[in-house]
Amino acid sequence: MNIHEYQAKALLRDYGAPVSDGRVVLKAEDAKTAAGELDGPLWVVKAQIHAGGRGKGSFKEASAGEKGGVRLTKSVEEAAEETARMLGRTLVTHQSGPAGKQVNRVYIEDGSGIETELYLALLVDRQTSRVSFVCSTEGGMDIEEVAANTPEKILSFAVDPATGYQGFHGRRIAFNLGLKGAQVKQCVKLMGQLYQLFMDKDMEMLEINPLIVTDSGDLKCLDAKMGFDGNAVYRHADIAALRDETEEDPKELEASKYDLNYIALDGEIGCMVNGAGLAMATMDIIKLFGAEPANFLDVGGGATTEKVTEAFKIITSDKQVKGILVNIFGGIMRCDVIAEGVIAAVKEVGLEVPLVVRLEGTNVEKGKEIIANSGLNVIAAENLRDGAEKIVKAVKG
Ligand code: GDP
Ligand code: MN
Repeated sequence: MNIHEYQAKALLRDYGAPVSDGRVVLKAEDAKTAAGELDGPLWVVKAQIHAGGRGKGSFKEASAGEKGGVRLTKSVEEAAEETARMLGRTLVTHQSGPAGKQVNRVYIEDGSGIETELYLALLVDRQTSRVSFVCSTEGGMDIEEVAANTPEKILSFAVDPATGYQGFHGRRIAFNLGLKGAQVKQCVKLMGQLYQLFMDKDMEMLEINPLIVTDSGDLKCLDAKMGFDGNAVYRHADIAALRDETEEDPKELEASKYDLNYIALDGEIGCMVNGAGLAMATMDIIKLFGAEPANFLDVGGGATTEKVTEAFKIITSDKQVKGILVNIFGGIMRCDVIAEGVIAAVKEVGLEVPLVVRLEGTNVEKGKEIIANSGLNVIAAENLRDGAEKIVKAVKG
């Protein structure tokens, strides 16, 4: 689960980390009051969307010379004007996808004078199964680009969970970033605060890009991006309350209500599968036969008829879906329950695209019989390969 920059900065502030004062604005008429509460003489107006690269992004239907989603202004009036100009419009960045994201919230922040821009992140390193720090002197840039072109400029190391964060971790980062004097102390303290926050809130990712040295020589978090482990959010009511459902794919949101593991993709073949591994294999084999999956969907081991029906509804609501492949291995799951679920769903939502069903495992004969006797136009498949071949053929001709 992701949150907005202004929410992430409030968390940083709670932990004592240095951030600028700022106000979030949802309605243009509130902008002037909000900006007036800040000191100036520089006001930064920042579009709040769950995607990075806002500064270099561009608005749809932008006027000539119009800048992206981060703007420096020099008065309360100008800050209010820029806020009004951003609200309600769609911002496209290299992380938002071509459709972009609608800006429903704008953050007005006290502007900082920048001496240097640095990069800092904490993340869960799956290779070492530990929390890692990543830092670089190349701040404000796309870190993927730095990693590709000048990997030597990135320092990354894991923290041993037995010791937790120690001062030497912070000093290592400080020296790598070329910090001097009091900045080293600030860095050691800040890294400890970030590590504590990361652990306390079960984060997956915390990125400060840029972390800056201000013109008065102090460290400050100028941007903040946070991702939380979705499986742990139930432990943090404060984090759950920060969820902005308008930022999420509506199909994924619907799926999460029914505890379905669903991720929307760009292809044309909808998949309904039980088990994440089988779902991955199904996506692979669809690609092998020359088509693209429209989604990843794992209905889970103990799916009920209701759950299968909901899954089916979500798949058919996707206008890009030109065919559906149901691929079920009945281990814990019984094939007859799946067959009944599929039929109930088709009866409820209708079926306008070809449907291939491959069943295997517990009660497979019963499942096949239910489908064969349903009178529905369902193409039966013998195995995974046969299923993939049949659905691709049905869609592509
Ligand atoms: P992003 O483009 O979504 O990553 O948004 P950021 O918050 O990182 O802002 C993009 C860039 O705008 C930063 O790298 C800075 O160069 C600039 N910027 C943001 N806030 C300030 C500020 O307070 N003062 C100045 N001078 N520049 C800023
Ligand atoms: Mn940034």
